[in-house]
Amino acid sequence: MNKKQIVRCPNCGNHATRHHFTNNQIIETSCPACDYLMVNCSRTGNVLESYAPGIPSS
Ligand SMILES: [Zn+2]
Repeated sequence: MNKKQIVRCPNCGNHATRHHFTNNQIIETSCPACDYLMVNCSRTGNVLESYAPGIPSS
């Protein structure tokens, strides 16, 4: 069973959607406003995939 949650996008501050996949313990956060994407494992905290447009990679 998946949980859906509205969160603040850390990239642009708009409303992003967070999906919590409890079967494989993956959390996916995506923002439709700026194409921000973050996939991480809730068990280990490891980031599996991330994409943040507009953030300088300094
Ligand atoms: Zn955003």
